[in-house]
Order: sequence, then structure tokens, then C-alpha cells
Amino acid sequence: MQHIELTFLGELNDFLGSDKSETTHRFPLRRRTSVKDLIEAMGPPHPEVGGIEARGESQDFSFQPEPGERIRVTPLCPPVDVRTGDRLHPEPLSRVRFVVDVNVGRLARKLRLLGFDAAYHHSWDDEAIAELAAEEGRIVLSKDIALLKRRIIVWGRYLRAEDPAQQLLEVLSVFGLRGPYPTLTRCLDCNAELEAVDKEAILHLLEPKTKKYYHSFSRCPSCGKIYWAGSHQERIMQWLRAYGLNGAGPERGN
Ligand SMILES: [Zn+2]
Repeated sequence: MQHIELTFLGELNDFLGSDKSETTHRFPLRRRTSVKDLIEAMGPPHPEVGGIEARGESQDFSFQPEPGERIRVTPLCPPVDVRTGDRLHPEPLSRVRFVVDVNVGRLARKLRLLGFDAAYHHSWDDEAIAELAAEEGRIVLSKDIALLKRRIIVWGRYLRAEDPAQQLLEVLSVFGLRGPYPTLTRCLDCNAELEAVDKEAILHLLEPKTKKYYHSFSRCPSCGKIYWAGSHQERIMQWLRAYGLNGAGPERGN
């Protein structure tokens, strides 16, 4: 029986139980199938793949290898710009938006804190997440490899970090999101964009100290929660600066 060879480069080896930067796997080709299925049968989910090379040129996921074929599979190389198309992503996203899986749920609030559109609900199953990603053009963030293998998902990341703060830094780094970030422009609870509100209109809802020291307020149009630039915002900025990220800025980053 004729064999094929698959060579995996870089981070794709994280899914092959190897700490090497390049591994080659030779196995019999038992049936005609897409290279997507062959890659995923070995471990790596397709959203982590940045390029497929065979017969001296780049191929897409539907490529069907012949016996004797040699294929090189390269990972997505950070910083990944989802707004730029390539062979594997012919329809780039118009803007950076996320859908966050339950297994990394705490990351959703952190992304919203920086102003990113991060859809999340604790009751969503794999199917709901995949469909939302496909319908609205969202990047799936997850620790579930099987979810990321769903065909309708185009962009995604299997998060390596365990801690939510480190996961946030991982997302910013992988997708090249350097800021300035539009902090405090999105509701942490429900992801809706905040609207400016007159202090006079919400005076009766404020604590005495907040009433005295703050003058600029915004409100979530969905749940009604009120936000203002308190001392916690300065802590967020300090945290971002500690990691070399620019937290301040008037422009919307997404
Ligand atoms: Zn809200």
C-alpha cells in the first residue's frame, strides 16, 4: 500500500504530543479524503493551520492527496490579521470579534473590559458557538479541540494559557491587537456597547462619593448597568502598561 507523508511545523506539534518544531508522519492512505480530515485525524484543529503545501504550491483544506504525496502543514504565525485574506481564509473578517467558549468563560469579561466584542453565554453548547462564529464572523476562543474542528469555524484559537489574564495576553499577542484599546465602552455583563448618559438623569442611582467625584457616566442599553471611570480603570491601565500594552486611547480598536 502506498503511503503519504505529513510534516507538521511549529506550534502544530502542540497537538501531536511533541516538543519538536518539526515532525514528519508517514502512514498508509486508505481512502480518498480531504487534507483537512487527514490533518485533524492527527490532532491539530484546522483553525490553527496557516498553510498547506503540496506539489510545490499552496493548497486549501479541500485538497485530496494522492498516494505518495508529501505535504507540509504550517501553523498560523502571530500576529494573525483576520482582516487579511489568504488561501485558507478567502473571506477575511471585516472586524475583530470573538465568541468565547464556556471552558474559558472568564476571558469574555476581560476582552469586554478592553472594549472588544466578545460574545459569551454559559448555556451555549458547541453547536451554538460554531453557528454564531460562522453567522457573525467571530473568532472562536476555546480549550475544546473537538469544537475547533467543526467545519463551519474559520478562525479560532486553542488557548494554551490556563489563567484568564494570561489567556487575554495570549489573544492580544496571537491576533496582533496592540491597542490603544477602547476600554470601558462595552458592558462587562452583556457585551452591549455603552451609551453616554447625563449625570442628572442617573443621580438618584449613584453612591454619595461617586456622585461627588465623577462627572462622566455611561449606561448599558441592554441591562441598565452604569459605568464611570473610577480607580479600577487606572488599575486596568497599570496592568496593561506592565505588559507593554497601550491601554489608553480615544479610538475604537475593533
Ligand atoms: Zn449590560
